[in-house]
Amino acid sequence: MFNLVIFGAPGSGKGTQSERLIANYGLYHISTGDVLRDHIKRGTELGKIADSYISDGKLIPDELMINILADVLDKNADATRNGVIFDGFPRTIEQAKALKVMLAERGSQVNVVIGLEVPDEELIDRLVKRGKESGRSDDNLETITKRLEVYHSQTSPLRDFYVAEGLYAAIHGSGSIDDIFADIRKAVDARK
Ligand code: AMP
Repeated sequence: MFNLVIFGAPGSGKGTQSERLIANYGLYHISTGDVLRDHIKRGTELGKIADSYISDGKLIPDELMINILADVLDKNADATRNGVIFDGFPRTIEQAKALKVMLAERGSQVNVVIGLEVPDEELIDRLVKRGKESGRSDDNLETITKRLEVYHSQTSPLRDFYVAEGLYAAIHGSGSIDDIFADIRKAVDARK
């Protein structure tokens, strides 16, 4: 089992590079943002709660988010057997600690954290562009700014957490999608 965390700010290319990783390594992809947007689309109770946080650019509270992820892992026990790409989770130190416990309970661990590093100005440009096409309620300038603040205060400390664990692979996330993926492959293959 090979578990990979794809890590980076909103707009850093996690979704795009996840598609390449799925195609190349046959891993099961869990995007917590996609899971939440699916609940919102279906109008579930969870979707209503998630919507209020997402539209405001805030993180869903840790306890709720950790339970959602545990549920996705349990419901897809077979499909996740070869390993998982965690996209958008963890986003806090508490989530990272919970992920470690959850995987250990399943006889597994995080094998590598791919950190896509992109300057803020480029992130804003990309997200504003994406907003024109995606129709996402959180891809407008006000919410984008808030999401980046949340990223810097709550999520970026995870970089040091995973560096200390010896799992962090820094990837220069500007440039062509192919070149970035070539660097990701090198980092993944070095740990397989
Ligand atoms: P994403 O599609 O990964 O950019 O996620 C969109 C939004 O979903 C985020 O801005 C958060 O409001 C929420 N979200 C997704 N994943 C998490 C997480 N691991 N913890 C808390 N909130 C999350």
